[in-house]
Amino acid sequence: MGEHARILLLGPIVLIGLCYAVAAPGSLDAVRAGAERAILPPLPSDAPFQQRCATLADDTRRLLPDDWTVVVAVPFILGSNATAEEIEHWRRDIVIPTARALQVDYFDTPPSEPITILIATTDAAYEECVTQLGHQGRKEYAGIYSRADRRLVLNLSTGEGTLAHELTHALAHVDFPDMPEWFDEGLASLHEDSEFSEDGLQLIGLQNWRGELLRERFQQGTLPPLENFITGEFSGPQAALNYAIARSLCLFLQQRGRLTAFYRKSRANHEIDPTAGWSLAAVLGHEDLVGVEEEFHAWIQKRQ
Ligand SMILES: [Zn+2]
Repeated sequence: MGEHARILLLGPIVLIGLCYAVAAPGSLDAVRAGAERAILPPLPSDAPFQQRCATLADDTRRLLPDDWTVVVAVPFILGSNATAEEIEHWRRDIVIPTARALQVDYFDTPPSEPITILIATTDAAYEECVTQLGHQGRKEYAGIYSRADRRLVLNLSTGEGTLAHELTHALAHVDFPDMPEWFDEGLASLHEDSEFSEDGLQLIGLQNWRGELLRERFQQGTLPPLENFITGEFSGPQAALNYAIARSLCLFLQQRGRLTAFYRKSRANHEIDPTAGWSLAAVLGHEDLVGVEEEFHAWIQKRQ
């Protein structure tokens, strides 16, 4: 497979980062507790996987600009131009607890290959890193996930929400490689702006700027039928609206207590339900997407 880069559209995501960072926990200790052990089943101390992580960390270090630091946090390789303290903060307080929470609710298959997360703290560092890694023409985006390399490159000057967005893609790729694009982007976008539950075991999406466009189009009566949205092209000229619909559908499902059920049902049935339309109707108790649409629109209406 060639490089499959996932992109994050630019938006007022500085706000998201602030939200993500401070909205966390009733208790930071609860968010951290046991998180590292929950990411992977127990590994023997000489596990080849750990060795692969160490080798990849060395190889990655050689690819990066001189002032970058690379550390191993199995199954992740973390690299950044930031200080060692900042990297440790991201590892302990964001990457590990976010991965743990996502694995509690959605992802049953743990990573069997290392996932590399490269975090640039400034536009200049991002541009240098992206250029050095050969991602031509991608500098305008806040984050890139390269499927072939299982590698995220993030511009953290756009907010820490970018980290949760791209981390969701990386872990979803392991667990549900054929996830429909609209759901893949909806779930990743949901976590851009989210908070941990009191026990640290769940990530709960919050309203964010993407919902504005949805409400605007709803008021105008110009939202596309759900059937068209789910079966149509996600990227392209309608991408901003599609992100808004996808994220809002995930937020709606989460508030209805059905997001986990929907993830698991669509994963189990992806061969016969590749767009996940049937799974969506099924977990909400509707015959078809028209019923889902009515309920979704009533939910949007309440948020006017
Ligand atoms: Zn994305």
